[in-house]
Amino acid sequence: MRRITLRGSTAAAALAVALLTTAGCPGGSGPSTRSLTLTGYALNTAISATIIKNRTYDFYLGNGVTEAQAKVKIEGDMGSTTVKLLDGQGTLLREFTAPTDPVDVAVPGNVVRVVVDKPEGIRPLVSLESFGVTQVTTGAIPEPVAALQSRAVRSFPLTLNEPVFLPLSADEARYTYITVPGIRGKSVDVFVDGAAKVFASDEEHGFILDTATAASIGSGTDGMYTTLSPDGNHDQLLLTIETPRTPDVRTLIVSVNENVDVRDLKVRFLGAASRFGRTEDQLTATLHEILEETSTHLYSVTKGHVRLGSAEVVFGQFSRPGFHQTMSIGVSQVAGFAEAYVDPNSHEIKCGRGWWQMSIDDAAWTLTHEFFHHAFSLPEEYREGFPEVTTEGPNRQATATCRSSIMGSREVRELCVAGTHVSTPGQRQDPHTSMWELLAPRLINTAAPQRSTTELAIRSSGGKKLPVEMR
Ligand SMILES: [Zn+2]
Ligand SMILES: [Zn+2]
Repeated sequence: MRRITLRGSTAAAALAVALLTTAGCPGGSGPSTRSLTLTGYALNTAISATIIKNRTYDFYLGNGVTEAQAKVKIEGDMGSTTVKLLDGQGTLLREFTAPTDPVDVAVPGNVVRVVVDKPEGIRPLVSLESFGVTQVTTGAIPEPVAALQSRAVRSFPLTLNEPVFLPLSADEARYTYITVPGIRGKSVDVFVDGAAKVFASDEEHGFILDTATAASIGSGTDGMYTTLSPDGNHDQLLLTIETPRTPDVRTLIVSVNENVDVRDLKVRFLGAASRFGRTEDQLTATLHEILEETSTHLYSVTKGHVRLGSAEVVFGQFSRPGFHQTMSIGVSQVAGFAEAYVDPNSHEIKCGRGWWQMSIDDAAWTLTHEFFHHAFSLPEEYREGFPEVTTEGPNRQATATCRSSIMGSREVRELCVAGTHVSTPGQRQDPHTSMWELLAPRLINTAAPQRSTTELAIRSSGGKKLPVEMR
């Protein structure tokens, strides 16, 4: 992770100079068509019974786009699903309740929001076959805007911790201008999940094009992630995103996240490494991999608000007899809300010997679930039963009571919101409260989202793992 600051001095001076030399704005004119699919929506297809309600996808079609045409195709069993297309002002453009062959929907302006509202059952595959875009030539770098007030906003006002899709062009490199309001005094993570160059500036200096090396905050072919600490004088971050011509990849996800909770862990192996059948180096390396994966999951599930910072590893500490093949993970910084679910005096996740037999992926998702118990006192959203007894003993089976939450099933890669939560009878906390409503007040400056957004901060396939420092 790299920290840069735009505060005063050389960076700002370089930005000002660069701005003078880059008055023009690249980008073609005339209609162009691009095909894309809501790949994000296929993320959980393996979970046929998952309840997904109110899932939204925001597409920014680009600065200078005055009108667009979306070609929508819906396949599969819709059940009682509705798929809505809204414009940038939230006006309903078209609603679908049945599968459809490709159908054109006129979009006034350059923002499309797709809302998939799914009460239950198997989800359909929604595909946006194409966006036909009418683009006007813009002679100047656009003004930043504070809200989605205009239908044809010139720069897209990105909400912190809310990702947006950018459709890419197969024909040309493109520049996209994004305004991020509300960053004063905040340190924010900038994520782009595919090939792009990203330049940052502030409202004083305007959008920056690629000659301004001082403003470059990252580039790469398979995504970038950096943390910015803008100075306290500006409330808006301006991002210029240069995307290459991309015949294969169709969309890019961009998100700017206020990360409010970074946790440092203390991991104790209760016994010598040899008791786990490995060397200390081997155990540490595997643990490191699991923790980076866990951090990435935490980040994604919490919309960029929570991740792991570092981990200290200690070998051979015997806290009590009989636990020599156990690892315990101490979760720091537990607030007063813990009493409802876990013992506030023992915020340690215990990982038995069997934990090391799991795949990295399973271990990381399990740890993510446990972390929510221990760090934020989120309850279980599943019940355990023993429906059958085999020769090896009773066969434990978990049944999710809320199927929209990782607290109900490890397969679900999100936390439920008010509209998707199913109450859990017997839950010690209010059974009608969703996990996001429980979590949000326990994080600084964070409100519970109203809707689920797709894959949140990082696309699973292209997303890189977040680094965790081993102390
Ligand atoms: Zn649990
Ligand atoms: Zn729930």
